[in-house]
Amino acid sequence: MHIVCLDLEGVLIPEIWIAFAERTGISEFRRTTRDEPDYDKLMAWRLGLLRQHGLKLADIQAVIAGMAPLPGAKAFLDTLRSRYQVIILSDTFYEFADPLMIQLGRPTLFCHRLETDADGFVVQYHLRQPDQKRHAVNALKGLNFKVIAAGDSYNDTGMLTVADAGFFIHPPPSIVEQFPQFAVHHGYPELLASIDAAAAGV
Ligand SMILES: [Mg+2]
Repeated sequence: MHIVCLDLEGVLIPEIWIAFAERTGISEFRRTTRDEPDYDKLMAWRLGLLRQHGLKLADIQAVIAGMAPLPGAKAFLDTLRSRYQVIILSDTFYEFADPLMIQLGRPTLFCHRLETDADGFVVQYHLRQPDQKRHAVNALKGLNFKVIAAGDSYNDTGMLTVADAGFFIHPPPSIVEQFPQFAVHHGYPELLASIDAAAAGV
């Protein structure tokens, strides 16, 4: 029995914070896990920047509501879900993801949550569990599933390492150099073929 675990941002949807940077014109929001591998540091910096610019959760949600999945992502996910059970493992937040989850047909999502104050400012973020992607894959393996995982960034390398098969899809060149053990894919048909091959062989 195989389960496929996919990252969300950069794999099925655009990077939310980059879209937010473009809409607000505040280029500092472009920083992602591709630039800062320490997720706690990155989030503390983002929350400080939001407060500094007087931006509330509703402002971020307004941007996300105008976003769509990456071209071909919904069809890819539909095909994948017709063949395997799929779980999205993401370091985003339920408060952000919902409009895009609806557009993707509500796949199962494991992520984190945000805490806001009475004025709607994000005051804290709560990781459901540190390094949750790696833990989720290990837990699924403990339930006797074979796990095939795909992601694009530093925060995926833990789950790719412990999965029975792990693949990159549209990763930045710097990460490819650092983790040459994960085959690189540039499109959904190519990734789907690798997942099918892994499922047939694992
Ligand atoms: Mg990603």
